[in-house]
Amino acid sequence: MAITHNLGFPRIGARRELKFALEEHWRGELPAPALLELAAGLRQDHWQLQGELDWQPVGDFSLYDQVLDMSVTLGNLPARVRDLGGDELTAYFRTARGRAPGDAGDSVVAAGELTKWFDTNYHYIVPEFSTDTRFSLDPSRLLAQIDEARGQNVAVKPVILGPLSYLWLGKAKDGSDPLALLDGLLPVYAELFETLGRTGVEWVQVDEPVLVTELSETWQQAYLRAYRFLAGRGPKKLLTTYFGRLANNLELALSLPVDGLHLDAQANQDKLESLAAGLPDDRILSLGVINGRNIWKSDLNALLDRLEPLHRQLADRLWLAPSCSLLHVPVDLTSEQQLDAEVRNWLAFARQKLDELTTLATALNQGRAAVAEALQANAEALRSRRESQRVNRVDVKARLQALDASWGQRQSPFAERIRQQQDRLRLPAYPTTTIGSFPQTSEIRQLRRRYRQDELDERRYRACIQHEIARCIREQEALGLDVLVHGEAERNDMVEYFGEQLDGYAFSQFGWVQSYGSRCVKPPILYGDIQRPKAMTVDWIRYAQSLTDKPVKGMLTGPVTLLNWSFVRDDQPRSVTCFQLALAIRDEVLDLEQAGVEIIQIDEAALREGLPLKRSQWPDYLDWAVDAFRLAANGVADTTQIHTHMCYSEFNDIIDAISRMDADVITIETSRSDMELLAAFDRFRYPNDIGPGVYDIHSPNIPSHDQIVELMAKAGRRIPAERLWINPDCGLKTRGWPEVLPALENMVAAARTLREAV
Ligand code: GLN
Ligand code: ZN
Repeated sequence: MAITHNLGFPRIGARRELKFALEEHWRGELPAPALLELAAGLRQDHWQLQGELDWQPVGDFSLYDQVLDMSVTLGNLPARVRDLGGDELTAYFRTARGRAPGDAGDSVVAAGELTKWFDTNYHYIVPEFSTDTRFSLDPSRLLAQIDEARGQNVAVKPVILGPLSYLWLGKAKDGSDPLALLDGLLPVYAELFETLGRTGVEWVQVDEPVLVTELSETWQQAYLRAYRFLAGRGPKKLLTTYFGRLANNLELALSLPVDGLHLDAQANQDKLESLAAGLPDDRILSLGVINGRNIWKSDLNALLDRLEPLHRQLADRLWLAPSCSLLHVPVDLTSEQQLDAEVRNWLAFARQKLDELTTLATALNQGRAAVAEALQANAEALRSRRESQRVNRVDVKARLQALDASWGQRQSPFAERIRQQQDRLRLPAYPTTTIGSFPQTSEIRQLRRRYRQDELDERRYRACIQHEIARCIREQEALGLDVLVHGEAERNDMVEYFGEQLDGYAFSQFGWVQSYGSRCVKPPILYGDIQRPKAMTVDWIRYAQSLTDKPVKGMLTGPVTLLNWSFVRDDQPRSVTCFQLALAIRDEVLDLEQAGVEIIQIDEAALREGLPLKRSQWPDYLDWAVDAFRLAANGVADTTQIHTHMCYSEFNDIIDAISRMDADVITIETSRSDMELLAAFDRFRYPNDIGPGVYDIHSPNIPSHDQIVELMAKAGRRIPAERLWINPDCGLKTRGWPEVLPALENMVAAARTLREAV
């Protein structure tokens, strides 16, 4: 009997019920008991949806974040929160968000830091450590959920984050080594396992995703020490890895004294047979056969070809699961009634992925005939996708074939280009500009909504957006900014806006995925070869330019960001998809240039996000990502100025790639790092123009003239004044006009002050 289980289910709810309840609770409009009741209802629904599986995860549900939950279990909330007292839920939300409902004044604390969860777009709350950290067990949340699940006849398999991954994901605020805390942590884990054992739990899923990263010898040794210490305590342990290949750590994982190992079957595909052959009799092997990161149907027949021999060998020691928690995919495809039927038939969301799992297990346990119909339908869906002319387009493939290196090459080096651009643009020293978006007022949002719902016809809608653009240009002229933008009123989202106009993209209605806490994203679905049927932004920019003598920047999203913020196809390398996106953007760049636009900005906000987990794979990713950007940008004449924008503050390890992108101007986020990150640009002698952000747009605070002058003076110590621009950290869409106007006024005044000193 092959056994099925799941590593984790999306908790936000098919209709984002948890999101709305949380936000209501935080606003003080939903009392805690009602929030907890709703959460229990969601858990019940989710267990029911997983009812066909042999084991269901328990404890994967979280009100905010599973790593924060583990910090609670280990008694490791930050001291600044513990000192405030209050009940458990209050402390929990204070750690997550800096405040609980009703908090004000002294009870507002610094929130825990949010960081990317491995290479996903999920963000977790970073555990905080210091040399003084002492752990103590609080199993109450887990035990309560186990009880709750048993009351619903769930086959309980608790899920916890393992001790090494927990330490690795945290940060020591005093610079000490988190690994030094291991000896203090292990007895608490031992106690947790023993507690679970006493309640009759048979298996516990111990997540150790850190095993797919490149671990140092010290960390490898720590793994051995930890799992030897924990061996034999409490229930059987399923050591669970995901997000990639175990590579060097495979031996290590196999040598740990646990009762089972879960790994991503696709990432470790060349190892499966030898693993099965060498597996000790008392171990189980859990294969993550269904991709938990994408939204495509699996090839069930091909999987069975591979699994049948393994199953004959391992019998009930073969477990099947998704590759990782289903947290990273939307809940239910059956909600999607507006999705193109052909595309829809190629997709599987969380529920459908579990159905696939059940089908596989039935085929293994009872023979393929028992699920012949499902297998047939699956084969047909895959064939339809493979053969679809919307997926594979001869014209797009031919164009990609014809590329050569000259496409990514500007005509002259930067020093020559910038001279020509200055002749043409005649900008003052310290030119001022913004990053693209201006406040997205409720009127603007309403406009777009009404247009979408056909309450506003095309002509009226265009007139209204033009009205917004005109306002935006007027305000910028009054402020005295040097390089203007149109304000992006027509854009709901920087990826969706372009995706909707490109062939090869589809959009779901309910395909939400948790990003952090109550925040969700709805990534567009890139299913086919990318083609731009017509210009996407030219009319708006041309209109904006017609209103002013100052240059207006064309505003585009770059290919790497379009890729990294979409669900992308799995039938060709990511790099190929990225080059197709690059060609579409290149066409737009050239159309803008043709329309007389002198400056074109191509945002690559998500370049860094796409970095692979394993450092050894960084060069390859950065190579094609940079090539894609160059392909998009570099078809222009020397006199056309290319800008790019990136909003994060860690450039040290990718500065070389940034240089190779060779944008004439890069605008970055720097205000919060106090210009520190310019050190990297200085050290690596970054040659082109830079606009270090001087206005933290994430904060409602308005930077003063003096603060901006001071920041720019700091920047001037790193970068020669003639290569500096002045701009905010990022787009202004989340701010209101009353904040934006005085901030930009100060920014322009600061530029004037600085110019006097030149
Ligand atoms: N041009 C975009 C804006 O201003 C950039 C957004 C981003 O970098 N995330 O909104
Ligand atoms: Zn930004």
